[in-house]
Amino acid sequence: MTDPDCIFCKIVAGEIPSDRVYTGDRVIAFRDINPVAPVHILVVPVDHHPDVVALAEADDTLLHELVTVAGEIAKAEAGGQFRLVFNTGADAGQSVFHVHGHVIAGRMDHLPG
Ligand code: 5GP
Repeated sequence: MTDPDCIFCKIVAGEIPSDRVYTGDRVIAFRDINPVAPVHILVVPVDHHPDVVALAEADDTLLHELVTVAGEIAKAEAGGQFRLVFNTGADAGQSVFHVHGHVIAGRMDHLPG
């Protein structure tokens, strides 16, 4: 499932470069281009789902995997202490409509989005 107009589908496909920290069969993670904290990584399913609620409804095991990967990354990068933020809807700051969990650790300047 991909959307040809989606920037994160293009990052998943390698058509747009990113600073990858994790590559799995169903989930990838890369550093946010505009970080709000010393650790700010986006955890993204390979398949295109617009937001976290849609993902939960479509594939709960994939959401589980995404959260597990977020925890592993946070453990490696920040001793396991982190925020996991899913902006959901434009009014809540979501700007990319391919679900992504923001893994944020360290002093945060402001909320993402
Ligand atoms: P949202 O506002 O949808 O919750 O978060 C989207 C995030 O994606 C923002 O924090 C933004 O900085 C990040 N972002 C947008 N475009 C790119 C890109 O091309 N590369 C990377 N690495 N991050 C991006």
